[in-house]
Amino acid sequence: MIKSVGLGVRNGKADMKAVKFIRHEAGAEDVELEMLFCGICHSDIHQAHDDWGNTVWPCVPGHELVGRVSKIGAKVKNFKIGDIAAVGCMIDSCGKCPSCLNGEEQFCESETSCLLTYNGSKIPSGQNSFGGYSSKAVVRESFLLSIPEEISPEEAGPILCAGVTTYSPLKHWGVEKGSKVGIVGFGGLGHMGVQIAKAMGAEVTVITTSPEKTEDALSMGASKVIDSNDKKKMQEGAASLHLIINTIPYPYSLDPYMELLKRDGTMVIVGIMMEEPKWDPTKFIMQRRSLAGSLIGSIPETKEVLEFCAANNIRPRVEVIAAKDINSVFEKVIQKKARYRYVLDLSTLPKEDDKNLESFGEVTHRLNGMAGQKEIQLQ
Ligand SMILES: [Zn+2]
Ligand SMILES: [Zn+2]
Repeated sequence: MIKSVGLGVRNGKADMKAVKFIRHEAGAEDVELEMLFCGICHSDIHQAHDDWGNTVWPCVPGHELVGRVSKIGAKVKNFKIGDIAAVGCMIDSCGKCPSCLNGEEQFCESETSCLLTYNGSKIPSGQNSFGGYSSKAVVRESFLLSIPEEISPEEAGPILCAGVTTYSPLKHWGVEKGSKVGIVGFGGLGHMGVQIAKAMGAEVTVITTSPEKTEDALSMGASKVIDSNDKKKMQEGAASLHLIINTIPYPYSLDPYMELLKRDGTMVIVGIMMEEPKWDPTKFIMQRRSLAGSLIGSIPETKEVLEFCAANNIRPRVEVIAAKDINSVFEKVIQKKARYRYVLDLSTLPKEDDKNLESFGEVTHRLNGMAGQKEIQLQ
């Protein structure tokens, strides 16, 4: 059993606070990490506040992990003690279903789906998984990622969610030189999306409610910024884009954004909106436009995006924060004040033997083979 401390919450109305808990030891195919940094994604806040109504309590968020390998299982081949390595939104999947066999673990079709790094409530034991706002982490080797040496440990984390969540749909929808791409929302995801789309050869337009971010957007590769509250500017941008990646994490009307698409254009939703959106079907029908969605990215894509960022000098813009500031930082993200990703320095957590910390108990699930899971029929 491994003693761990972290930042967590017992219900959606409470503030985050330092807690202690027990993680299971690394199995034969697992790697244990001494955590260094963890990015703060807007999804962490939605989950901690139970905005999606699916949080399993207690909750320890965090899915942009960077740590130093401190222990390896007997069958681990590609990592050694002392390596700096990273973990994104998943720590395991069935490995046998068509999606897993195709290297698209995020769409794992097993009864338990992929095991999310936190709030992995579908694990066979019914236990929750605790995320990266913690001093230790345990992950299956095949879900652990090497970090190219050009990328510093504090910058790597945000590539694992914000980076791959925008990289995956940009690649899937074939962005190339000459593509006209819109990025809606210029926050953690958006600022990565702009840089990645630009490096793929696209002409990038940012659509934002924060026109004060214009200079930053242009410096990161956008050629145009539209203030989405300016109706005239939105009308001028009508039918100008092939593809839109829409990162907004709150409810909104899709219609003004759909009108920015050219004929046959596609808008891809990557931000979960909390309630069902309303839309006008004529916006799709009249120009044969499509609405699509995309979920994070696969492990092969996460490896690719790390290399892609290293090769194209793409980095998240990060601000490193201490554990004690977590609640004020959550508030800043909600108020759209992040520029552009806060990253938690895990050396600022209390010590693991601190007697004053509340205990969240044991996280006893095993990673290897997701034991107890029903065999699924392959097509
Ligand atoms: Zn995220
Ligand atoms: Zn699977």
